[in-house]
This record gives sequence, C-alpha cells and structure tokens, in this order.
Amino acid sequence: MNPDDPGGPARGLARFRPAPRTDWPEITDAQWNDWHWQLQHRFVSLADLEPRIRLTPAERAGILFSAQKLSLGITPHFFSLVDKEDPACPIRRQVLPVIDESHTDGVEMGDPVGEESSSPVPGLVHRYPDRVLLMVTDRCASYCRYCTRSRLVSGAGGYDFHPDLDHALAYLREHPEVRDVLLSGGDPLLLGDDKLDRLLGALRAIPHLEFLRIGSRIPIFLPQRVTPALCAVLRKHHPIWMSVHVNHPRELTVEVREALGRLSDAGIPLGNQSVLLAGVNDSVEVMRELVHKLLLCRVRPYYLYQCDLIRGSRHLRAPVTRGIEIIEGLRGFTSGYAVPQFVVDAPGGGGKVPINPEYVIYRDAERIVFRNFQGRVFEYPDPAKSGASRPVAEPAYEVTQTPS
Ligand code: SF4
Repeated sequence: MNPDDPGGPARGLARFRPAPRTDWPEITDAQWNDWHWQLQHRFVSLADLEPRIRLTPAERAGILFSAQKLSLGITPHFFSLVDKEDPACPIRRQVLPVIDESHTDGVEMGDPVGEESSSPVPGLVHRYPDRVLLMVTDRCASYCRYCTRSRLVSGAGGYDFHPDLDHALAYLREHPEVRDVLLSGGDPLLLGDDKLDRLLGALRAIPHLEFLRIGSRIPIFLPQRVTPALCAVLRKHHPIWMSVHVNHPRELTVEVREALGRLSDAGIPLGNQSVLLAGVNDSVEVMRELVHKLLLCRVRPYYLYQCDLIRGSRHLRAPVTRGIEIIEGLRGFTSGYAVPQFVVDAPGGGGKVPINPEYVIYRDAERIVFRNFQGRVFEYPDPAKSGASRPVAEPAYEVTQTPS
C-alpha cells in the first residue's frame, strides 16, 4: 500500500510512487519542492551528470554533441526517475542525448511539420481555419530528445516572452476568424505567474478568442511549479484547457498526480499527448498501463503521435504500424475514455491526420460490413440516401457472420 494514499489501492492509487530522492539526501523538503531550486539544479552538462550516472560511450558523445542541436536539460525531479544503471531505461531514452542524434537520414527535417511555412508572424502558426499556435517562450524545464521544435527551443538566455509577441497579439486582434489559441513553446508554464497572468489577460481582451489551451510538460518535468498561486492565475482566465505530455507510466509519480489534481481542481480539463517512441512506449502493455494511470489522474488520453521526422530521431521512431497495433490492442479491450487518437502530423505541413485500425471491410449504397474488436464480422444495413451516389468498393471478403 502507498502510505500517502490510505485506502488508495481500491482506486488504483497504489500504482503511483513518489519520485525517489536517493541522489539528494542533503536536500530539504522545502528545497526539493521549490520549483526555482529544481530549475537552478538542472543537469545541463557532462560534468553535472558523470558523478551521478554510469554513461555509455554513445551517451557521453551525445551529450557533447547536444550543444550543437538541442541542449541537455533535466530537472532533478525527472532525473530521479532515471535508472542509472540501464541505458535502455524508458525515462533515460527520452532526455539523455545519444550520438545517434548527429545522424540525419534522408527523410528527416529541421521543421518536420512545416510550421515556418504557416507562420504569418514569427512565433505564431496559423494552419487551421479557426485556431492558431502561439509559441510564447523557447525554454522548457527539460528537453525531450525527439522535440519537433528542436530548431527553436533551448536557445535563449532567459524565460522571457517571444520577442515578437506584440506582433502576434496584433495579428490575433486583426483576425476575427480565430477563436482558439494554443499556447505552447517551449513551455508556457515556465513564465512567472505575473507574466502568464498578463499574457492570458491580453488574450482574453480580444473578444473573438473563445478558447485558450496550454500545451505543457511542466506538470511532469517540474510538478513543483503547479502551485496554488499558478492555479489561481489560470482560474482567472477560464475557460482554459490543458494538454500535458506523458509518454511512460513511470512518469506519473505521486507528485505528478497531485500536480495534475491541483489543475483539475482549478477547473482545467486535462488531456494527454504521448509521442510513440521506440523503447519507451511502443507496446500495448506499456500504453495500457499509461492510459489507465492517466485516467486515475483525471487526464483523458487525447493523442498518440507518430514521432515527427525530426533530424536525428531515427533511433527513437517506432513504425506507424506499431501505433495502429497499439490502438487496436486498446479499443474494445478497455474504457473508451482511455483510448487516444493515433495521428500522424503530415510531413511538410498537412496538419494532423487520424490513423485508425481498419474496421470497415466493405461498403456499398445499401450496407456497411465491418469487424469488431474481436474480429467478428457484422453487417449494418445503411439507410439509402436520396439522390446520393457513393463509391462502391469490391468486397474484401465474404460476410460470414451477422448479428443474431
Ligand atoms: S517539453 Fe515539449 S517543447 Fe519542450 S522539449 Fe519537450 S517536446 Fe519540445
């Protein structure tokens, strides 16, 4: 039983463990729980890491190379989850660079989803008709080695606003068709409370903006940042929704669950975006445990992303077919709320495209034939649409079973 959760096993809460602090016996609770202390003591160099972990030659070389690409940065909280002896540790693979990052294969790109080509103002991406992405800072608490925005994040000298933010706000005022703004980065929750309050206030002053979303990995990398004061700031500007980013069930510690609980209690609906990563979460078993723990944290699994074709990511990219298999292994076998949508962000800038297991076997003007999650085949007589003609496909195979 988890002593922090008396009665917890009945609700599955015993599956959560506190982040182990064995590497920092000298640190007080007050220091550990202070998000500023966590940021000041991030692992950012070989010298920081070597005394604490047995590095492989590939990791050592990768850390030295990382200055040329995406900086190394790991909070003590997240580092405490790393298996120091196992290079295959799924937490370690996400944040410790390896020299494979220096190899670019022919399909990889610096801007794999074509954000630059849909950017009318620096820091703002307007690809879909009624919504925009606003990149408010270029810093994150820790750096994910597969980051789609490797070209942008980790380069600046402080946690300041994007230098073109005023231009981005002016663009939003001039575009009444935009009703939905996603704040991302970098990580918007790295801004101090006052700055975040001013930014959200400036957006709320634009009458046609209805829906504000924040994309953040802070509750996972730095749960200490989710203070009551931060929640009070967010609550002022409702409706605010948030997408967090968890890839492996071990990231969901007691501290993370409590941080997510504070956000939920502040009225913020939470969704999760995972990236499908080789050696991290590319199995039904790992994803099942992840999505179940997310529901216990009041987080709805939202997207499972195929890893973008970012430069130097080949060693982390799992096949698209694995993503389909994972969804197939979840759909019907567990709660519908637990099943994310698998998407590929179309290379070059086509936007997110849902990719699903194929359930439809045959369709014509009168019927649709499909299989269920167990592979049983059914037919549904489709009401005829007056005047409408539909493409008729060849039957994939004969219907052998219909519902009794
Ligand atoms: S937290 Fe998000 S923006 Fe930051 S490095 Fe990770 S994936 Fe990139």
